[in-house]
Amino acid sequence: MSGLPRSAHALVTGGGRGIGRAVASQLSRAGATVTVLGRNQTTLDAAVAAGDAHFAEVADVADQASIGAAIAKAVARRPIDILIANAGIAESAPFARSDAALFKRMIDVNLMGVVYAVQAVLPPMRNQPRGRIVAVASTAGLRGYAYVSAYSAAKHAVVGLVRSLALELANTRITVNAVCPGFTDTDLVAGSVENIMTKTGRSREQAIAELAKHNPQGRLITPMEVADTVLWLCGDGASAVTGQAIAVAGGEI
Ligand code: NAP
Repeated sequence: MSGLPRSAHALVTGGGRGIGRAVASQLSRAGATVTVLGRNQTTLDAAVAAGDAHFAEVADVADQASIGAAIAKAVARRPIDILIANAGIAESAPFARSDAALFKRMIDVNLMGVVYAVQAVLPPMRNQPRGRIVAVASTAGLRGYAYVSAYSAAKHAVVGLVRSLALELANTRITVNAVCPGFTDTDLVAGSVENIMTKTGRSREQAIAELAKHNPQGRLITPMEVADTVLWLCGDGASAVTGQAIAVAGGEI
């Protein structure tokens, strides 16, 4: 039992694929109306066609005007009571080769993408009987990893944002939390696997094992495992859970 309100409208950024698609699917199954948002119309339309979402909005989360306009359209359709700020990108490089442009890309999408989505959603959400904001951060928001300093810095910032915003909104019926997956089986990790193969000459299996060894359970997390944690945070049973950064990582944290 998820305890979602009957008329809940959830907006999932990056909802067309990966973790966001699994979250959209779980929220839809739990009875919410789901709007997925991303840059790629085809991917978003496929999520709607498969029954994982009801509406699609195209926007770049790093562009405040773009995401603001898309969220205004979604709110006009139906007030939003659940925001899942999931869209993100990961690029790896040694710190010495992580230039300002790389840091800016990581911050713009992974941090400011969350900020802009929350800023657009919050004023109308305050008029709803209750609200849920969940950011999909990362274990990289709770600990460091070599060669992803820019990504990790941005994800640590997301966790700081969530902890502070939760306190600011504690006297409302809106909760704010982060879910922090470990290495999860999506396109994003497929990119890291390709990178390891290219740079080290390892096989695909060896490259996956290299990432999975961070997880004491010795495997990649599944998108559905992340989605189930998000779903729980959106339910009425989690009303007292706010300002938390919950690792879904097989004991890594
Ligand atoms: P993914 O499969 O690569 O999906 C990323 C999603 O983000 C896509 O739906 C993409 O949609 C969207 N997106 C990226 N940049 C965007 C932008 N500028 N504007 C709008 N949408 C954008 O990655 P994933 O693994 O599901 O990652 C989802 C979240 O989980 C990210 O925040 C990531 O950092 C986090 N995470 C992932 C892992 C992992 O191991 N996979 C671990 C920890 C945390 P479009 O391409 O349509 O724009």
